[in-house]
Amino acid sequence: LVSRENHPDRSTVHVGGVPIGPDTVTLIAGPCAVETPQQTLEAAQMAKAAGATLLRGGAYKPRTSPYAFQGLGEAGLRILADVREETRLPIVTEVVDAHDVDLVASYADMLQVGTRNAQNFALLQAVGAAGKPVMLKRGMNATIEEWLMAAEYIAQRGNLDIVLCERGIRTFETATRNTLDVSAVPVAQRLSHLPVIIDPSHSGGRRDLVLPLTRAAIAVGADGVIIDVHPHPEQALCDGPQALVDGDLRELAEIMRTFPQLM
Ligand code: PEP
Repeated sequence: LVSRENHPDRSTVHVGGVPIGPDTVTLIAGPCAVETPQQTLEAAQMAKAAGATLLRGGAYKPRTSPYAFQGLGEAGLRILADVREETRLPIVTEVVDAHDVDLVASYADMLQVGTRNAQNFALLQAVGAAGKPVMLKRGMNATIEEWLMAAEYIAQRGNLDIVLCERGIRTFETATRNTLDVSAVPVAQRLSHLPVIIDPSHSGGRRDLVLPLTRAAIAVGADGVIIDVHPHPEQALCDGPQALVDGDLRELAEIMRTFPQLM
């Protein structure tokens, strides 16, 4: 279903009216985690100022350590809904448990499945049945074939509104959190009709790499990028070191504006 064999034209997925697909580079930005109404609103305003047309933000955070901030849950979803009201930015947010899919879908414009759940087949089937577009991160240990098969689990439930997101894979390299596999973008686009975007924030885990990797994403033909921003990263409860700050936004906006010239 997700293969290009029977579907030669590349697809565009619409999220709350915002297109993600071959004719544009969509910027999705926002806080890694929803922490407070003020922090989420400020991050959303930063995202919008940089040219974002979709707001990201995690209310359910799949953390490596069980002692780390796990997200605000439904209270976080309510904050996202309020910020959507204020900024008019549709919401992309992660769901980590099949039992929460209906709840998260009742607030979200797009459901995100993260790298740690990328082969959680019960979750994939549940999001496939939820009637909302889905962003499927690549499992950090998944081959491209395994990633596309994970997408197939969603598609099988009748949902072809799927966006693939390359977010770095595990390699021997320790200088970055994960290694962004830029070649995955053209490979996946050749094999599948689904849009493919890049997450330069979670792949590197480092603020100084986000803008260079965003340039790489655009140069390699990604259909969008998803980026963390935070008004006060030093106080962030999750992934502060990779969040862009106010001073980075002009450059981010500039990079997004160069897109038409690159085509
Ligand atoms: C995220 O986008 O909030 C996230 C946790 O990403 P990943 O699943 O790629 O680590």
